[in-house]
Amino acid sequence: MTGERAAALDAADPLAWCRDLFVPAGAGSGAVRAYLDGNSLGRPLIATADRLAGLVTDAWGTGLIRSWDAAWMDLPLQWGDRLGEVCLGAGPGQTVIGDSTTVMLYKLLRAGLDAARAKDPARTEIVVDTQNFPTDRYVAEGIADETDCRLVWIDPDPATGVTVDQVQAVVGPRTAVVLLSHVAYKSAWVADLPMITGVAHEAGALVLWDLCHSVGVHPVDLDQHEVDLAVGCSYKFLNGGPGAPAFGYVAGRHQSTMTQPIRGWMGHADPFAMGPGHQPADGMRRFISGTPPILGMVGIADTVELINDVGLGAVRDKAVALGEFVIETVDADLPGVTIGSPRDSVRRGGHVTINHPRSREVCAQLWARDVIPDFREPDGIRLGLSPLSTSFAEVDLALREIGQLLEQ
Ligand SMILES: *Cc1c(COP(=O)(O)O)cnc(C)c1O
Repeated sequence: MTGERAAALDAADPLAWCRDLFVPAGAGSGAVRAYLDGNSLGRPLIATADRLAGLVTDAWGTGLIRSWDAAWMDLPLQWGDRLGEVCLGAGPGQTVIGDSTTVMLYKLLRAGLDAARAKDPARTEIVVDTQNFPTDRYVAEGIADETDCRLVWIDPDPATGVTVDQVQAVVGPRTAVVLLSHVAYKSAWVADLPMITGVAHEAGALVLWDLCHSVGVHPVDLDQHEVDLAVGCSYKFLNGGPGAPAFGYVAGRHQSTMTQPIRGWMGHADPFAMGPGHQPADGMRRFISGTPPILGMVGIADTVELINDVGLGAVRDKAVALGEFVIETVDADLPGVTIGSPRDSVRRGGHVTINHPRSREVCAQLWARDVIPDFREPDGIRLGLSPLSTSFAEVDLALREIGQLLEQ
């Protein structure tokens, strides 16, 4: 009786009340019945709708250009610090919000590579993996082309992910930067960030962690593990909204020796001097390029504060419980469906991918029934489990629908 089990789990869920903080996903026909894509586009908080409206009428509408001085100029670093504190284990002055993830990744990968090479010209290799998100692979390929560097590819098991041994086997005196995702976008594999960071450092290399699928759902302790560089999204588990900007983290110890390749006026030591030649600002501000995307970043604050209120540990606990519920239900009720994510919850992030040869067709039919997961090549249905907004009942409903569709 999975229906009863889901109801019992929801009744015992300490985060259940958070669901009422989100903008309702419609009512009546066409209303979403189960939203399992919060890891691609998180749902908006009601507070965010209010905050956006307030920005337009107040800070923008009446403050007008004065609001740059009054508030906006410092937001990328202020909110970066808050995000760092609540979600990243990062002390102040190391996190900035701005750019798309792709552009921020480009900037920090170049910054790391250029710094490593300046110190030791033999370091001309970037370690990447074949299962990483396309933008990460493409950006790395582009940088290799433009800088005459070499990519060293790790080819992990698609159902799990990059292991410590695989990294150990490829790093050495030529490695400049190791670029990996902390939580794999397809399998949800949680890479061993502390160990892999240590292995890269022993080889004299830097690490750049992509945290797109971990931020806001899985704790990361960037300072504690001496991570060098990190980037991540704000529109997935942080519910920042479509196209909300990324964040970048550069460890304080590297900031004075790293520069980024997009040298805009806003990263200048004195932007309003408007003088000749670029002089990078001190600290994290040098990683800003142009005018900060204030409208775009407005949505991030509310989820970060909600996570702070409930505790990231509680969010992670619910992600684990939702994932276990998926796996138990699939094992018990969906013959022919396999689990494409780690069964060990320690190694599994905030989603579960299930596999079946008919996944593409089933996923399209689910959307037609207002049940929204996503399809991932070649045969995966990815069930995003966003602990603040996803109920066990939604997961149960989606899995029952999948069962019905597979029986047809
Ligand atoms: C979602 C995601 C991105 C997205 O990049 P954008 O520039 O925001 O489109 C990049 N990398 C990973 C690992 C992702 O999961």
